[in-house]
Amino acid sequence: MKKYYVFILLSFISFNNLLVAQTNELNILSESIFIIDGHTHHGFPSLDSSEVMSEMKYLRTLGYNAIVHELPIERSETDDLYKRVSNELFRLEELSENNEFFEITKYPKSFSEVPESEKIHCMFAIEHFRGSIFNEDTSIIRKYGELGVQYITLVNTEYDRLFTTSNDISVLSKFGKEVIDKMNEIGISIDISHMSEEDMLEVITYSKSPVIASHSSGAEISLSEDNLSNKVLYQLKENRGLVLLSFRQNRLFNTDDKIEDGVEKFIDHVDYLKSIIGINKIGIGTDIQANGKYMASGLSHEQTFQNIANALSKRGYTQAEIEKIFYKNYLDFVNKN
Ligand SMILES: [Zn+2]
Repeated sequence: MKKYYVFILLSFISFNNLLVAQTNELNILSESIFIIDGHTHHGFPSLDSSEVMSEMKYLRTLGYNAIVHELPIERSETDDLYKRVSNELFRLEELSENNEFFEITKYPKSFSEVPESEKIHCMFAIEHFRGSIFNEDTSIIRKYGELGVQYITLVNTEYDRLFTTSNDISVLSKFGKEVIDKMNEIGISIDISHMSEEDMLEVITYSKSPVIASHSSGAEISLSEDNLSNKVLYQLKENRGLVLLSFRQNRLFNTDDKIEDGVEKFIDHVDYLKSIIGINKIGIGTDIQANGKYMASGLSHEQTFQNIANALSKRGYTQAEIEKIFYKNYLDFVNKN
């Protein structure tokens, strides 16, 4: 009988130790975690100073340290995109001077180590479907590079004629190949999110540099048109490409899924991608819009990243793996390409 008590006492002590160890681990996560959102529409709702400041303040409460924002901000117009992107960047640089909330980071190598700064590091990419990004001239790509553009989302539209058809199959056009060659040469990454499967495969196979899918998820888990098929994921693995997982409801869930908390579903996608392309090639690209519109439940409030970290930890992910997903993989990708 006495032995039995001792056993219960020992079990109680070790259970308590386990709890303490687990609580400590979660605290470490919340203190040292650094978050890069590689695809967001938050942060710059307009070029108005007070709107930008209040958005940046809000992003800090969500725990962000760095974002990649999509330009141009005004997305409905089609004319002279280079001029609009460069004007917007110039204005945003002006706004960033002497303010306490954000700074423009053209070259993320400058923060490959977690910085002390409380400010949000803002980087930029181009995503636009209503006008010509390249204007039939690949020399413009160097100019985008000089502006600090991280990646460009390529899309099969009439504007840039990057694709043509051969025997009813969509293939890269001569100009499309020239654009990819130039982006590879300058070091601007190619974003394949939003393409059809056959166009994704064309681009991944042709590109010499690793490509990025900046706001997609796994089609095997949810069949959204923006998600990546297994064929694409295997090709991406060969290409050493990076996938940033979206927080959007329609990419995380199938329409007939019972809609539950987005955190667990997000981690289903992480698990699946890890099993195919490996832990080093997964990041976060929420595609979050103002007011959390289109986001899955549980993925647009102050505790979101802490909850994701806790849930990953519960599924056996180590702190080192969580840091990779939250920011290290993105920095690694940018620094190597
Ligand atoms: Zn998009």
